[in-house]
Amino acid sequence: MSSVHYWNYPTDIFCGSGALGALAERCKLLGMHNPLLVTDPGMLALEPLALLKVHLTQADIPFAVFSDVASNPTMQDVALGVEAFKAGKHDSLIALGGGSAMDAAKGISLAAVDVQGLDRFEWSQVIAHYPTLADFPHLDLPRLIALPTTAGTGSELGREAVLTRSEDSIKRVISHPEMLPATVILDPVLTRGLPAALTAATGMDALTHHIEAFCSPLYHPMSSGVAVEGIRLIQQHLVNAHDDGQNMVAREGMLVASAMAAVAFQKGLGGVHALAHPLGARYHKHHGLLNAILLPYVLLANRDTIETDIGRLARYLELPQPDFEGFLDWVLELRKRLGIPHSLSEIGLDADDAAWVGEQALADISSSDTNACVLDADDYSQIFRNAVHGVLQGAKP
Ligand SMILES: [Zn+2]
Repeated sequence: MSSVHYWNYPTDIFCGSGALGALAERCKLLGMHNPLLVTDPGMLALEPLALLKVHLTQADIPFAVFSDVASNPTMQDVALGVEAFKAGKHDSLIALGGGSAMDAAKGISLAAVDVQGLDRFEWSQVIAHYPTLADFPHLDLPRLIALPTTAGTGSELGREAVLTRSEDSIKRVISHPEMLPATVILDPVLTRGLPAALTAATGMDALTHHIEAFCSPLYHPMSSGVAVEGIRLIQQHLVNAHDDGQNMVAREGMLVASAMAAVAFQKGLGGVHALAHPLGARYHKHHGLLNAILLPYVLLANRDTIETDIGRLARYLELPQPDFEGFLDWVLELRKRLGIPHSLSEIGLDADDAAWVGEQALADISSSDTNACVLDADDYSQIFRNAVHGVLQGAKP
């Protein structure tokens, strides 16, 4: 190996049915005396929030709930959250929900301390100025405990927040090492109310994270190993979690796989996310659903570069046809089994914006730079057209 690599692995994790019982104790250990509980509005009447309230109240920990969080959280949501954080004299944060609640809570933790943080820690700035975690300034951000209620984004184990800028609907990735939650609680009980369609879409997001990380050209064998086992967990559990939301073994397997994906994608993501980010911001479609539809088309665009590695992966998964074609067939069959459309036209997108999509995907610095092979804007436009029309270009007949 010719160059020096920088790696850092994440944080305290409590995992399993009943892990929620660790919440109050962790709050006390971390000195969280008055947390702001960040969640999305859809959570207000649901069981997970009620459970959290019981645990905090029984432990005499005062808290307030902030739920003005859009499904693609915006900088404006974060600004409102900071107001609530300061008005309530909160000292810490608890995030309960999917990626939107996690990302909003991380954004609030940063912006509550550093008003310039959302700009100066935007991904392109991070790449230019903070090449390793040790290069970031220490900000003493408020402590954050994360409790995911979906198994998909892995945001609970990430140091990034994806926030949409309201003016131009562009998603920005904000990163600071202190945004990593101090404790993560993976309790499958919190995910059992997730509807089947969301279980499918979020699970396919986690699968895409693992596959894109596995295919990334960056050298990070620890993350590659995590990705391989994460994909196997999804193979084992996603359909069961989708078919029976009360299956706690499957729910836990998916929570673990999803969290692992955030560790895997320290290697980076790729063309699926490079396309899904601008499409999600412009057309307000679910991130996991976009990824699930786009995945086979990007795999085919990367085929020449990833064929050998995917064959190795297919053998580990013990697929009946252990090669690239067999893996592609598995992905296509899984999508179908989960009721996910084959083309973007089926969710209302057309190819009129293909040139814009290509440019935006190329500009998605957090993802396009780590795609398995180099793609230009025209390549991304063509992949997008293929995905709109359902054309598996490059597949063997
Ligand atoms: Zn994703």
